[in-house]
Amino acid sequence: RAQATRLYSSEDPLTILTSDTLKETLHNSSAAWLVQFYSSWCGHCIQYSPTWKALAGDVKDWEQAIRIGVLDCAHEKNFDICKEFGIHFYPTFRYFKARSNTFNVGKTYRGPDRELQTVRQLMVNFLQNHTRENWPIGCPQLEPSRSEDILPLLDQKSEQYTAVIVEDEDSYVGREVILDLMVYEGLRVTRALSSDRALMTKLGITTVPSTYLLHPNGTHALMDLLPGVHRKKAVSAHDPVHAGNREHGTTEMWKEFDKSKVYMVDLESGLHYLLRVELASHQTLEGEELKTFKDFATVVAKLFPGRPSVVKLLETLLEWLVSLPLERIPYNAILDLVNNKMSISGMYLSDRLQWVGCQGSRPELRGYPCSLWTLFHTLTVQAALRPDALANTGLEDDPLAVLQTMRRYIGTFFGCQECGRHFEEMAKESLSQVRSLDQAVLWLWSRHNQVNNRLSGALSEDPRFPKTQWPTPDLCPACHEEKDGLHVWNEERVLSFLKQHYASPNISPKYTS
Ligand code: FAD
Repeated sequence: RAQATRLYSSEDPLTILTSDTLKETLHNSSAAWLVQFYSSWCGHCIQYSPTWKALAGDVKDWEQAIRIGVLDCAHEKNFDICKEFGIHFYPTFRYFKARSNTFNVGKTYRGPDRELQTVRQLMVNFLQNHTRENWPIGCPQLEPSRSEDILPLLDQKSEQYTAVIVEDEDSYVGREVILDLMVYEGLRVTRALSSDRALMTKLGITTVPSTYLLHPNGTHALMDLLPGVHRKKAVSAHDPVHAGNREHGTTEMWKEFDKSKVYMVDLESGLHYLLRVELASHQTLEGEELKTFKDFATVVAKLFPGRPSVVKLLETLLEWLVSLPLERIPYNAILDLVNNKMSISGMYLSDRLQWVGCQGSRPELRGYPCSLWTLFHTLTVQAALRPDALANTGLEDDPLAVLQTMRRYIGTFFGCQECGRHFEEMAKESLSQVRSLDQAVLWLWSRHNQVNNRLSGALSEDPRFPKTQWPTPDLCPACHEEKDGLHVWNEERVLSFLKQHYASPNISPKYTS
């Protein structure tokens, strides 16, 4: 079995959760949790992992109050738990309150800003959303103290230092310092508000934020926020992924392959992941989602140049969808069909996830998104080669049918939401100019190259498979020309090449079982 993933290791200052540990960890936890559900094939998750590690290191001292976890939804072992928690997109950030005895799927943070400082402040807000009853056991008080609480302490001997951070109400400094210093003994940190005039006057404070320090011997004085002293910058890991010694640790054997071919096993693994994992995170399909799924089922059933057992499954799925006039379909019913619980003979899609043309030099690279591109190039080419294939489906007159289906699939279901956003921008800009099935093939090719260009040098790039403008001259010399000293594509040749590359005779059955 291919084991996906590994962006985080046990050396990182966070907890790696799995289907075996997630629920028991969250159940009645003494601390709150912030968990990132990610997918190791998602480029944005790869790009973001150094920030998440830096955040985890930065708030390590808060762990009596709130902890940081990760769970990899691309790991086969975790497919079901991510489905149960309704994780549709990656990364998804969920907060879980402390001391909760009932199962809940947490509260999602949807904000676009995921920078370290923003997330720290969100964590503070989240902690403050606890009630007295479920307050995390080790979490200090974060509400401001009042002059009545503080002034009687002046000139009193005590066993500890008390630092009073006086600040404006919306300032986070006090609460963050309280949490940062909670692991120190002999020091209590509290905050007070600049609106507390009695306190300001008595302590002689004129600017905020200020810190007032009460010594154990009873003396007290205003501390300047120490000049030149600031939080240590968290060490950020720039190389988030290494082979070996990772989360779930197995490495697949390298499979030799020919890059001038397309591999059926990649297409089938992609379909398996899409039908049994990605779509399955949606409990029911209705409205636009159902329409998108039906069109997707139509396009693949009619155009997928697969083995008979897979085509039979896709056709049966489509017949079933068309015959059901339901407005809402529970996804489990679709899964029953895809898993052939009805025992319809000759219908089968393997549930092995294995990559060949899409294998990466590390398990977290390539895989599913590579197979999705491959699938859609194959479908646009099949549509151009067999223009009658979509007859009587309602999609027959539209040269954009495959691309529009892809666009809606990506926007609705693809776990990489950022990818969907970028793809939608490209579609909005130029998809309407496509007038023929051949132009559809070329449109997808040129947009894919645009994506390759944008991602060149990104952390998610597999060094063994650098993002290039494709097809490279070794694959198709005639596709490349020079005009006035500049490289230009010969689009006619590119089209012929694509129609050969993604056509049935070039799809190798090697490694299929
Ligand atoms: P891929 O780019 O996945 O290509 C797969 C295979 O297709 C290649 O091996 C090659 O054989 C062939 N190929 C390459 N270029 C072309 C071409 N121009 N025309 C035809 N065939 C080609 N990741 C991000 O980090 N950010 C994003 O915004 C993002 N957007 C995405 C949008 C979509 C719609 C999809 C499907 C994926 C997106 N991804 C994004 C993922 C990213 O594009 C790659 O799929 C991923 O990084 C894996 O790269 P890869 O090396 O396997 O090659």
